[in-house]
Amino acid sequence: MATPKCESCRKRPVAPKASVWCRACGDRWKRAGKPEDGPPPPKKGGRPREADTEERVQKTRELLAAGKGTMEIARLFGVPGSRVSYYKRRLAERGELPKAVTSRR
Ligand SMILES: [Zn+2]
Repeated sequence: MATPKCESCRKRPVAPKASVWCRACGDRWKRAGKPEDGPPPPKKGGRPREADTEERVQKTRELLAAGKGTMEIARLFGVPGSRVSYYKRRLAERGELPKAVTSRR
């Protein structure tokens, strides 16, 4: 049986029974105030700041995995350390924060 795809974006697979939408579309729907006609279409390049953040979050993950410290990463990005802490929090929320970075490789 094929994995059902999200009815909104038709890209991401959906866990059977959970919903007809993937998590991203479900979140978007909730944020939009749960409109009856389903999630609003994904914004493409509508919010460049967010795309940039995601890029940096991923870069932060790579740098952490490479053994860089928070302040080192902050200097590389040219942002305050608190910004990098925020990126790390985003990673931790998704369980993507590299741990034991020095012993891993
Ligand atoms: Zn979706």
